[in-house]
Amino acid sequence: MATTEKDDYRHQGLRRRLVDLLKKKGIKDQPVLKAIGTIPRHRFIDDTAFLELAYQDIAFPIPCGQTISQPYTVAFQSELLQVRPGMKVLEIGTGSGYQTAVLCELGCKVFSIERHRPLYLQTKDRLMGMGVRPNLYFGDGYKGLPKEAPFDRVLVTCGAPKVPEDLLGQLKVGGLLVVPVGEGEEQRMLVLERQEDGSFRSDDHGLFRFVPMLADKAS
Ligand code: SAH
Repeated sequence: MATTEKDDYRHQGLRRRLVDLLKKKGIKDQPVLKAIGTIPRHRFIDDTAFLELAYQDIAFPIPCGQTISQPYTVAFQSELLQVRPGMKVLEIGTGSGYQTAVLCELGCKVFSIERHRPLYLQTKDRLMGMGVRPNLYFGDGYKGLPKEAPFDRVLVTCGAPKVPEDLLGQLKVGGLLVVPVGEGEEQRMLVLERQEDGSFRSDDHGLFRFVPMLADKAS
């Protein structure tokens, strides 16, 4: 077994410390904290040089010039999503698959889109190997997933220059879109809720930094 595949008492201890830190930073949602305490984040890191850092509250590089989001950001976005088991959730930006695994652990039926084929393929293998079974797609997240819509929740894990209209259109009434929006290096974390009359209520949850949401898929 490769070192990254083990999940021993050391990793579990580090995860408990991470959960304590996230609580101190204001995360309250118990199922989210439990999921973070369960998912072995070190298995989402390819470079063994980073293994020691897997349970620190930092983002770091993954292939294709992308990043695995900081645990606090994953916890914060997961909390904003207010999911319940069985909900249909669309994630844009599969990346390492860590956030995807957290959503699966929360009992959601997860659909996730990634625009980099190598990341899509690697993450598919990784999650399969861990027994996690989301529905993964290689494609352009701006278009969403019309054939599976409508969704209870949509989560964007990259920074969008503006709110992606197609994603709003794929929400159920009462559904939530959590999306970091901004043209520059920083984005505002917005939560948009679809109302019965088709309009959207919007809440702003502060500044964050994500890799950009790019149009169309790469290869
Ligand atoms: N949720 C991921 C975060 C990865 S970073 C994790 O926990 O690791 C954001 C990801 O969004 C990157 O992998 C990037 O390639 C992807 N992305 C950017 N624009 C996209 C688009 N239009 N459609 C799908 N994925 C996109």
